Amino acid sequence: MAGKNVGLFGPPGAGKGTQAAKLRELLNVPHISTGDMFRENLKNGTELGRKAQEYMSKGGLVPDEVTIAMVRDRLSRADVKGGFLLDGFPRNVAQAESLDKMLADIGLPLDHVVNISIADDEVMARLAKRATIEGRADDAKPETVKCRLDTYKAQSEPCLAYYRPKGVLRDIDGIGTIDEVFARISKVFA
Ligand code: AMP
Repeated sequence: MAGKNVGLFGPPGAGKGTQAAKLRELLNVPHISTGDMFRENLKNGTELGRKAQEYMSKGGLVPDEVTIAMVRDRLSRADVKGGFLLDGFPRNVAQAESLDKMLADIGLPLDHVVNISIADDEVMARLAKRATIEGRADDAKPETVKCRLDTYKAQSEPCLAYYRPKGVLRDIDGIGTIDEVFARISKVFA
């Protein structure tokens, strides 16, 4: 099996969370989702959670110093030595650069960045649907959804140009059933 140090990338609504749950089972590695970590902090009423909420509720990015410190702390744990699945990080080029540094420090390569892609109109349709099913506050307002998509385009998408020359990018068509998309992702690790 190919390396198991993996980043999962894609616009909001691409199905990262759903595919991450299946991929963590396949790879048997810890799932490190920055969005989940922020939501967990919010639920527990921590200072970090309060700070993150300001940005999450508007659809913007939580500041890098907060996010990067949280990920650095998580990657310092021994359980990532056998692989990891990073979901929702990096979300801008500065985060991608600091991830490279963090991984170099702990002596691990980044083997694959799985890029799930879907078209913009599909993003809007899926997020509207998710708002009614999961009740996620940041999916509920169309202006927040629009902002998340704009944030993705302006800040996150440039990560693709950062990773492409490194030869780690694995492009996955995100249109299809959950199982169809997962079958495409699984081939990366076959
Ligand atoms: P997600 O669950 O990955 O869609 O993340 C939900 C929200 O958490 C995002 O819209 C951001 O406000 C925040 N967030 C998650 N990951 C990051 C990150 N790497 N950098 C900055 N903000 C993030």
